[in-house]
Amino acid sequence: MERRINPWFHDTVSALVYSLAQTNAEPARPKLQAPYNDLVRFVLAQHARMPDYLRTPILAATLGFDLPAALRHGHRFHTLPPAIRLRQIEAWKNSPLGFKRDLVRYFESLATLALYSRMDAGGEAQCSTAQEEPSLFSPAKVIDHPERELSCEIAVIGSGPGGAITACLLAEAGRKVLLIEEGAYLSLGSCAPFTHEEMSQKYRNGGQTVAMGANKISYVEGRCVGGGSEINSGLYHRTPPDILETWRKDFKVEGIEEADLQPHFEACEKELSVSLLPGPAPAASLKLHEGATRLGWKSIEVPRWFRYDAGTGNAGKRQSMTETFVPRFLRAGGMLLPRTSVETLRLEGGKWALNARHGSMGPVRIGAETVFVCGGAVQTPALLRRSGITGNIGNSLRLHPTVKVAARFAETVNSAQTGVPVHQVKEFSPRISFGCSISSPPYLALALLEHPEQVREVSHSWQKMATYYAMITGEGRGTVRSIPKFRDPLVRYKLTPHDRRDLGEGLLKLCEALFESGAKALYPGVARSPQLLKHDDLNKLPDALPSGLASLMTIHLFSSCPMGEDQTKCATNSFGRVHGFKNLYVNDASLLCTAPGVNPQGSVMALARRNVMSFLNNKSTI
Ligand SMILES: Cc1cc2nc3c(=O)[nH]c(=O)nc-3n(C[C@H](O)[C@H](O)[C@H](O)COP(=O)(O)OP(=O)(O)OC[C@H]3O[C@@H](n4cnc5c(N)ncnc54)[C@H](O)[C@@H]3O)c2cc1C
Repeated sequence: MERRINPWFHDTVSALVYSLAQTNAEPARPKLQAPYNDLVRFVLAQHARMPDYLRTPILAATLGFDLPAALRHGHRFHTLPPAIRLRQIEAWKNSPLGFKRDLVRYFESLATLALYSRMDAGGEAQCSTAQEEPSLFSPAKVIDHPERELSCEIAVIGSGPGGAITACLLAEAGRKVLLIEEGAYLSLGSCAPFTHEEMSQKYRNGGQTVAMGANKISYVEGRCVGGGSEINSGLYHRTPPDILETWRKDFKVEGIEEADLQPHFEACEKELSVSLLPGPAPAASLKLHEGATRLGWKSIEVPRWFRYDAGTGNAGKRQSMTETFVPRFLRAGGMLLPRTSVETLRLEGGKWALNARHGSMGPVRIGAETVFVCGGAVQTPALLRRSGITGNIGNSLRLHPTVKVAARFAETVNSAQTGVPVHQVKEFSPRISFGCSISSPPYLALALLEHPEQVREVSHSWQKMATYYAMITGEGRGTVRSIPKFRDPLVRYKLTPHDRRDLGEGLLKLCEALFESGAKALYPGVARSPQLLKHDDLNKLPDALPSGLASLMTIHLFSSCPMGEDQTKCATNSFGRVHGFKNLYVNDASLLCTAPGVNPQGSVMALARRNVMSFLNNKSTI
């Protein structure tokens, strides 16, 4: 059966990718022209990486896409002339049936991303394929080929910002720690940042994860040693004091005053070299800042965890976990087990038995006296629920829903050296914040998919274009559930009517600031929205973001296992110990009681540091 279906699927995908790429490629750009075999390979590889419960439905829908052609024309889709293929693609794209639109959008996004990844600053081919293991540390401390049975005093599951600092401080306190990470151990420079290579190497499911709901919200997570810190922008905030106050009052979190967290913020800021840019900010970032300032709105340069060497300008090095806490952990004698996913935990005689699977060795069983689960806001509740631990776990996922707009200016605002934009408009914070996004040609092309006639513009005008976002704190919430027989969890999220209004207002205000800074055209990421050419066009924007018609995304997820002493809603105590267990802890983004309204890694790390120190001082009791 599989032998018949695979070539069928391959033919249909190949024909779809060729048709979609041809539509979005500027004819005058030879580098964007066929052959598109590299695009087809990328799309097929991405399909293989997508969450396991979605793989078969997408395959079935793709084969279903082939059927109308066979019925109407007596030929399969891939053998039809290009014009007829395009008609069918358009019909599905504009279909009232959501799954038809979603299917075409899925293939179009991947094909367009890969197509525009062929461009570099000069509009010509790129790119880095280097992949290396860091060679800085004693290899004996990195377990490449584990025994079938391992044991340790403390197992830390997940090596993102929460897990890396947890493991490091425990090892430095002399504990015998095994840090287990599902992804590979790659150096920060193993691939260029914000490229499709990075998605393949370091993102979970190749970056194709989605929270289901009336408005699907795409989200991404890191899956490599260092977790999200290896792929993120490094924008740093402390947790706002009023948010800490909400957690104290509404969740009965102890030891969460600003003064309690101050030493932890300061220690993390020092270790990660949190600092402002030494040189001028990128032009696209300054554009937003200028527009907001003219309107009298508060706009700030956000510091980042970057180390800059004298005389190299803004070309610093991001202080991800593989640059900071992971090497410190290894130097302190900790053991790292990469490419190993923990599938379930079980208590046996008061100790934990971890059933894990290593990339090449298969099943591995790990015994531990104490376990810290630090898999991030989606994977931590998924693992606990798979293990039958469900009390207030995975019921209260929060995130920052985000909508984007692409802007075109008369002058150059973008270049291959642009890097990460650093300004955020905080006038309406914590409810709404705006900023500038990564604006390389592939990301610009993706941001323009709701305005298909503009996508080709990217190949010759990308230096005059940039993408911007409006992000809301939101009051909606979601769930994380494991699905029997599947590894990947089902994530659902529901926006409230209030969230839709905030997103509408955020988009409007962002567009206002961009017109104020001289934008000539704006292209909101909302289906069927018109392009906006002048200030008066802003009244064409909806007051509230419509159901199903906006391309929402997020990179900030938390609150799926909230901490606190209120056992009616909290999964763990105030310091991350899971209620009802003596030797089981959560220490990652899942603990944040609500959305912080700011980039969250600073909060995740300060809390993780506070909790480990509390554990080491034996303060965390049942
Ligand atoms: C593209 C992007 C940009 C971002 N930009 C910023 C920013 O500028 N500023 C900011 O503050 N925040 C940013 N964030 C968010 C920030 O990266 C996260 O808040 C942070 O990484 C969360 O840390 P964590 O330790 O909770 O989880 P993660 O970083 O998600 O780490 C969890 C790790 O655990 C591993 N794991 C999960 N389950 C298992 C298992 N069962 N077995 C073994 N290993 C497992 C995962 O593979 C992963 O490596 C960004 C995120 C992304 C994705």
